[in-house]
Amino acid sequence: MRMYDIIKKKRDGGVLSTSEIAFFVKGYTDGTIPDYQASALCMAIWFRGMNAEETSALTLAMRDSGERLTLPAMDTLRVDKHSTGGVGDKTSLVVAPIVAALGIKVAKMSGRGLGHTGGTVDKLEAIAGFRTDLSAKELEDKVNEAGLSIVGQSADLAPADKLLYALRDVTATVDSIPLIASSIMSKKLAADDDCIVLDVKCGSGAFMKSPDDATALARTMVEIGRHAGKRMCALVTDMDAPLGNTVGNSLEVIEAIETLQGRGPRDLTELCVALASHMLCLADFGVYDHCEREVRRVIASGEATQKLADMVRAQGGDPAWITDPSRFPKAPYRQVVKAPRSGYITRVDAEGYGTAALLLGAGRNTKDDVIDHTAGLRLFAKTGDFVNAGDAIAELWTSDAARLSAATEKLLAATSFGEVKPEARPLILEVIRA
Ligand code: URA
Repeated sequence: MRMYDIIKKKRDGGVLSTSEIAFFVKGYTDGTIPDYQASALCMAIWFRGMNAEETSALTLAMRDSGERLTLPAMDTLRVDKHSTGGVGDKTSLVVAPIVAALGIKVAKMSGRGLGHTGGTVDKLEAIAGFRTDLSAKELEDKVNEAGLSIVGQSADLAPADKLLYALRDVTATVDSIPLIASSIMSKKLAADDDCIVLDVKCGSGAFMKSPDDATALARTMVEIGRHAGKRMCALVTDMDAPLGNTVGNSLEVIEAIETLQGRGPRDLTELCVALASHMLCLADFGVYDHCEREVRRVIASGEATQKLADMVRAQGGDPAWITDPSRFPKAPYRQVVKAPRSGYITRVDAEGYGTAALLLGAGRNTKDDVIDHTAGLRLFAKTGDFVNAGDAIAELWTSDAARLSAATEKLLAATSFGEVKPEARPLILEVIRA
């Protein structure tokens, strides 16, 4: 078999066989297929797409490119939730403790920030001492001890995806349905949870910009999981504006704690309640309405917040930070951004706000950049709010004052004003069940 023929076949619109896909994944992982041939194939896939069988074969070949997590059977089904990536998306920090407070085990592998999107692992590392680099054995122990654990992706899990993701990131081939679906699902299948709820983001801050593409991606991933014997469900959700009112690591952890305490922003609370209820339903906890009632109950009772504190203690952090978030260090520099004119806010563009947070130091420009966990922004006004000229619309936080002016410019460019109040957009666009 020759890589040249595989590239040519896909370039010309052909359908790749399972053995051709396996040949490519194995060769790229062991270094016998060079980057330039792998990039050519990714670009051919970007243009020509893949059918369901090809996408499934690519997912399984990537899953099998490394180790698979094999946690021993536990007394409840293990459930995971995965977002395709967005701005201000701190839902994992809220839903995992809620579900664990109701006795369903959560063993979750999360990622770091990517481009303008944030990552759960970076957020958790805003808590001093919190360890995300646990071995499979430690993950198992923590899940047994606290009922939940969130860790970073181990290097041995789906290494083909790690290599291909880095290549796609620099060859303009990230936003392809078969490539995203196989990337996410290869990691989810290697991590071997029983139930998976997907949060497929749609809008300016997401990789899928249109509802049709987001729905197609969601259906593709649900089918892959179903074929692999997983219980699957996907929510297609709006990511045109940031989720909640904060973007940036420690600011987002504090907002997640407030949401667990029942004091969170409405959009974030609504989405977390829905995601947690779907996770519980998949894990046989009960019908949706019962699950939702229980979710709201453990928020009101404080049990969900206590679970987050338990996880922080189990993974080396100080649980007092959860009960008293004023312990999170604050960035030394703060700047208020004011509305340049009066009117309704007609758009807060998620990608622009994510980039503004990145410019403040909350994300990475290169993979070796060190994150400023205190950096980020808080929104005082969102789409549909009326503001007067000079009203504060946001505040920016950073450890490097030189970063403030570029971030302010970016944030203002990402905010649109108008005379007419825009129609509210639904937050949950679709629920797809296997
Ligand atoms: N997240 C992933 O893990 N992979 C993608 O391709 C996109 C988002």
